[in-house]
Amino acid sequence: MNNYDYLLSDLTKLNGVGKKTREILKKKKINNIFDLLWKLPKSYTDRSLSSKISEIRIGNIHTIKVVPTKYLFPRIKNLPNRVICEDETGKIDCIFFNSYEGYIKKILPLNEEITVSGRISIFKNKYQITNPTYISKDSALIETIHNKYSLTDGISEKIYNKIITQILKNLPTLSEWHDSIILKKFNNETWNSSIIKLHDPKNIENYKGNFYRRLVYDEILSSFLVNSQIRKKIKKIKKDSKNFTENSYNKTISKLNFKLTKDQIKSLTDINKDLSSKSKMFRLLQGDVGSGKTIVALISALNVIESNFQVALMAPTEILARQHFILAKSLFSKNLNIQLLSSKSELSKKKKIITDLRNNKIQMVFGTHAIFQKKINFSRLGYIIIDEQHKFGVRQRKLLSDKGGKNCDVLLMSATPIPRTLTMSIYGDMDVSIIKEKPNHRKEVKTYSKLESKIDDIIKFVKKEIKEENQVFWVCPLIEESKKLDHQSSVKKFAYLNKLFPDKVGLLHSKIDNEEKEQILNKFLNKDYLILVSTTIIEVGIDFPNANVIIIENANKFGLSQLHQLRGRVGRGSKQASCILMFKSNLSENAKKRINILKNSNDGFKISEEDMKLRGFGDLLGFKQSGMKNFRLADPVQNEDLFLLEETEIKKMEEKKTNLSKYKFLLKLYDQADIINDTV
Ligand code: ADP
Ligand code: MG
Repeated sequence: MNNYDYLLSDLTKLNGVGKKTREILKKKKINNIFDLLWKLPKSYTDRSLSSKISEIRIGNIHTIKVVPTKYLFPRIKNLPNRVICEDETGKIDCIFFNSYEGYIKKILPLNEEITVSGRISIFKNKYQITNPTYISKDSALIETIHNKYSLTDGISEKIYNKIITQILKNLPTLSEWHDSIILKKFNNETWNSSIIKLHDPKNIENYKGNFYRRLVYDEILSSFLVNSQIRKKIKKIKKDSKNFTENSYNKTISKLNFKLTKDQIKSLTDINKDLSSKSKMFRLLQGDVGSGKTIVALISALNVIESNFQVALMAPTEILARQHFILAKSLFSKNLNIQLLSSKSELSKKKKIITDLRNNKIQMVFGTHAIFQKKINFSRLGYIIIDEQHKFGVRQRKLLSDKGGKNCDVLLMSATPIPRTLTMSIYGDMDVSIIKEKPNHRKEVKTYSKLESKIDDIIKFVKKEIKEENQVFWVCPLIEESKKLDHQSSVKKFAYLNKLFPDKVGLLHSKIDNEEKEQILNKFLNKDYLILVSTTIIEVGIDFPNANVIIIENANKFGLSQLHQLRGRVGRGSKQASCILMFKSNLSENAKKRINILKNSNDGFKISEEDMKLRGFGDLLGFKQSGMKNFRLADPVQNEDLFLLEETEIKKMEEKKTNLSKYKFLLKLYDQADIINDTV
């Protein structure tokens, strides 16, 4: 068996781990020996101090050598069993609740020296140790430092320490995967010595040590490498390139009643270059809400159509698909056959679309994920555009890319800006175009904070806005604990507002089914409703040009990025828009700091960076759904320098076409990935 196999072995390979313990650990996602290495000690108990009974202190943990001299086993229920023990300086009782006499006699035989460790208490003037944690004839097993781990029910500290000690003793020496320059940055700590130090109680919470940073570096590297390899694999796929004609491009642009921003043009250039190249495009178009991604996607689709390929645009909801479809109709030549595949269309119409797609009579189709059903076959699909899809993980995206076939370029769009340190982890498998600059007609949304008790002022403000024919989103508080409460609070708010503004208020919450939801959104779009009360489910991406006010209750429950996204739902027209953040009570200093970031910035990327610094990356919007695995040690805030260093290292490797076979085992251990084997 080679070195690595030991680490990837089943847990039952360890002494002291049977099927039962294995099942307990499996529930904690610990599946093999390697996984156990990342559960770190939280504190420790020093049991190395041997004392005489005359020296012990009440309340402390002591390890003492004693001789059991008498058993006292009362025959009365609920009274504990007692063993009197002595050394030459005094007496102490070992007390046992719920232990059988036979067992006690076995572990504490009379008149033999034995080592006992536990916390000392006093009862009726006698020292005692209740249920001693450690009892052994072999004092060496006890007289040492015992790590404390936050343990799963069903595994004792004693067993756990035994397991970890055993692993550390058998830790294989792995051949180094880093070159000497990188290794030097971590004072030449090897993987092996780093792991041992990681479990050394002296190093608890020593996150800055070289041993710790080296392991963080390993972890980031493995995740970046997997992504980079997937990217390389996709790039190797050869396709029929699409033609690009300046002429039709200019003609389309001239139809717009605005000028494209610099970033929109730059993104289009990136995309067009990919489309007309011989390798498959796999690109992310990232830009804040309202930065104008849709138009970029549609213009790029036109080239593909002119090259006699079909295009599919997938949106998360029907209403959004319809909006994109309408925009495309106004933009594209009437000669083109573009269709919306809607669940609401008549069956005969749907059937016709399916037939026409198969016969290459339709050039572009819009819809939800329904456009990728099995029964739908394209004749010459050349381009898939996916809007607002940040929920796909790396592996799902790869599947999607495969599904389209070799000639199919892929563009994903996302309005969830993420901090730079996370870009490689989340989107390292794709090329990325970023739209930072917003169309200049967009006025910044004015952001205010207001106490909930001042709701009358808010209502006055809403009345004024409605008089001016503006529309209002009213977002109810996020109640994480319970979906039911979430729903109740929105129903209540609806009732309250509907009294003040009869028949002008719509309500959306998670219990409303899709069809009704679309009706409600359409009513809001058509101004039948002027106020839309909702939980946080207001759809991303829908253009409500007339919505000018968003009110967000209990705003401190949200992350800044999420507030920024919600705020982006308004201010799409030409009027000044406002966002009112409601709070239950006065803000703490930290909360004020956070809200000020939001008030002073309209840059989603900057806001997400700050948000991550204040709240940690686990809470970042979109992170949880991003499909990115959780890091074991690495922290994008604390280890920002390593993330950035690694980004340049990966780029260097890509440019130099570094042979990656030396990282094979790093990836095997950390990601259980065989991707290097596949590609090297
Ligand atoms: P998002 O990036 O959130 O998907 P959209 O594509 O929905 O943004 O664009 C938001 C609005 O801005 C749309 O009404 C769109 O027509 C408009 N728009 C896009 N680009 C520009 C531009 N360069 N100048 C002015 N308005 C633009
Ligand atoms: Mg959009």
